[in-house]
Amino acid sequence: MDCPKAHLVLRNANVITLELRHPRARTIYIQGGRILKVSSKDISRDQAGPGTRVIDCAGKTVIPAFHDAHCHIPAYAESLLNTDVGPASVSSIEDMVVRVKEAAAALPAGSWIRCAGYNEFYLNEKRHPTRHDLDRATTAHPVKLTHRSGHAHVLNSPALALAGLDNESEEPPGGMIERDLETGHPNGLLYGMGNYLAQRIAPAGDNELDAAMTRAGRVLLSLGITMVQDASPGNDMARWSRFIEWKRKGLFAPRVVMMFGAVELDSLQGRQPFYDKATGLGSGAVKIMIDEVRGSLNPPQQDLNRLAADIHRRRLQAALHAVEETTVEAAALALEHALREAPLKGHRHRLEHCSVCTPAMARRLARMGAGVVTNPAFIYFSGERYLSEAPPYQLKSLYAINTMLEAGVRVAAGSDAPVANPDPLKGIYAAVTRRAATGQVVTPGEAISALDALKLYTINAAYSCFREKQTGSIAKGKWADLVILNGDPLQVNPEELKHLKVEMTVMDGEVVYSEAI
Ligand SMILES: [Zn+2]
Repeated sequence: MDCPKAHLVLRNANVITLELRHPRARTIYIQGGRILKVSSKDISRDQAGPGTRVIDCAGKTVIPAFHDAHCHIPAYAESLLNTDVGPASVSSIEDMVVRVKEAAAALPAGSWIRCAGYNEFYLNEKRHPTRHDLDRATTAHPVKLTHRSGHAHVLNSPALALAGLDNESEEPPGGMIERDLETGHPNGLLYGMGNYLAQRIAPAGDNELDAAMTRAGRVLLSLGITMVQDASPGNDMARWSRFIEWKRKGLFAPRVVMMFGAVELDSLQGRQPFYDKATGLGSGAVKIMIDEVRGSLNPPQQDLNRLAADIHRRRLQAALHAVEETTVEAAALALEHALREAPLKGHRHRLEHCSVCTPAMARRLARMGAGVVTNPAFIYFSGERYLSEAPPYQLKSLYAINTMLEAGVRVAAGSDAPVANPDPLKGIYAAVTRRAATGQVVTPGEAISALDALKLYTINAAYSCFREKQTGSIAKGKWADLVILNGDPLQVNPEELKHLKVEMTVMDGEVVYSEAI
């Protein structure tokens, strides 16, 4: 019998397949971009020929490659160009002024200085900076400071002028302009105006962004991530064309599923979620942002219901951004409304973040078949802030992953990068231990097993964009996307999970990252 030969074999490996019937294996045969065979025996001569590359894993652990089910890739790439003013780099507004001064000294007058990652909670002054602070650093350069959440920005005076914001400016829908009490002039602090600013002030130049995308792709592969879902609400046809270009030119290596913002709904007619293996690009859910501005729901419930029903009727997948209990409730109501109107199984509508989820809400979501894409790594990166700021009733249901899984909700994980670092192992650590980087424990009753945590970043992430038949576990015929780890996440002491390292990443049957190189 003519037996196909593998071009790559991983032997002597401790393989965690995430397949129910054969959870462990020893050898993986790969041909082209796919897994040819998974075996519990050592390498067989039949399937390896003289041209076969054999990697001896020396007993190390092989898992399916990671999949980030919710992130913002171009923004993450841009963040790599930014001056970091996050808690790791500055501890006061004064430090921040020094960092901006340093950046200004290195750039010609008039060029933009972009800083990111600030978080007022960690600043000695315990307040947001204003334009007055930034003007002390420079008035010869426009400065844009982005909050860690991405939902607040601070501009200095030249940047405010370039953005066309002055005493007369009206707030765009969903936005809020803080003002000096006496003069009414904007004090530089802006909430919910990310899109407004993106349209008005110079983004990174194309070449600059191209280079940053390449860097971002390499960082993700080094973290074992071979697939991402871009969840940016502003994603439109222009962004789609950019992604096609980045993929065609080979500038961004990981596989991409791009969600579209609801504004593009009409152009998506008849376009079901898909993924094209040849280009490495696909389109995913339709993103709806739900937030609360000054205590009222945006968009209002009726509009939200209409939008969700519209997406549902077109047989598209809805992804509703809902963080707080009230917005999660609004998202659930909207989906229940849509499903009542047109019952459908297998829709896979999903809630993004669902940061506060009571047991009753988890049961409702399970009943209607809605999934959740949440962010365990937020516990690692912001856990101590939650403990000091969140009211007890919220803390009780914060990132309630165990409650959701027990209720039968399909839960996947995303990093929300650049909001948090994209390293999945930090998220897995936090999902299992519920510990922040500082060691504090957040809602320990919501801890889950390492196996379930691994699934959030692999098979469940694949399911969240209809790709579980192609990826997310190690099985014959699936894409050959694998990661070699320096330890077994299911065996190590949970405290060790955060120290695990990706030693090699294989994507589409090729070694795309190796620690040794
Ligand atoms: Zn997001």
